[in-house]
Amino acid sequence: MYTIDLSGKTAVVFGVANHRSIAWYIAKSLNLAGATVYITYQNERLRSGVEKLTAEFPSIHIQECDVASDQNIENTISSIANMSNGVIDIIVHSIAFADKKDLSGNFSETGRKGFQTALEVSAYSLIPIARYASVFMNEGGSIMSLTFSASDRVFPGYNIMGTAKAALENETKQLAYELGPKGIRVNALSPGPLDTLSSRAIHGYVDMKKVQAERSPLQRNITHEEVSAAALFFASNLSTGITGHILPIDGGYQIAGV
Ligand code: NAD
Repeated sequence: MYTIDLSGKTAVVFGVANHRSIAWYIAKSLNLAGATVYITYQNERLRSGVEKLTAEFPSIHIQECDVASDQNIENTISSIANMSNGVIDIIVHSIAFADKKDLSGNFSETGRKGFQTALEVSAYSLIPIARYASVFMNEGGSIMSLTFSASDRVFPGYNIMGTAKAALENETKQLAYELGPKGIRVNALSPGPLDTLSSRAIHGYVDMKKVQAERSPLQRNITHEEVSAAALFFASNLSTGITGHILPIDGGYQIAGV
């Protein structure tokens, strides 16, 4: 029988804000499969909520990390590596941010500052995370991030975040190429719309969700659990032959023409 057993593995999951965060679902499933999990939250304002979430999970630990600074990322990763005998096996990047005004209206109105913010937080941050974490991934490992199919198709309202996802997916391939010889795999999960703090900020989100349920071959929206199951697959030995891949978890929506 094939099983997913991550006991003895250390995972770092970046980007838990609340109980709806995709990162939280992934953290729970990695932990249920046996991994020791470190989750990160952005700032002090989120701390008590995240502490409450983890109260029933003795082997899920929390760390603050604002990825706007490379120094924060380096400090977070090295402190986690210290606590895990210098070995990190699994990294999940589940972070995105854009100014609310850049998530509606005309894309051509996107300002320079809004572009920089969205790209830096949502796409650039994967690079220093991979740079610092890969040093501790001596026994191979798996890095994954969360993207969305607005990377190559237009979803009104997704705007600058589509540009950020295109960058993130390109980084996934370049990092997969560079880290492959070390046995480190780099992939991305591309879920359909899910109710979270971030998705609710996108003007047009409700329509995206409705259309997906109507037009995808499975004729429904996907669930948080379906995304965390795919993350388990990428974290486990069942996917050792796969790297540089963008995996849609969208009920087949991407194949629909009309
Ligand atoms: P979420 O709001 O729960 O998670 C986004 C996280 O990014 C939050 O924890 C937030 O604190 C964090 N973040 C923002 N700026 C940060 C910074 N400077 N430093 C550190 N953390 C920061 O929403 P989510 O939907 O779970 O989003 C997780 C990922 O999934 C994102 O990359 C998102 O684009 C992607 N995604 C979401 C959907 C969806 O429909 N919800 C679909 C496809 C992809």
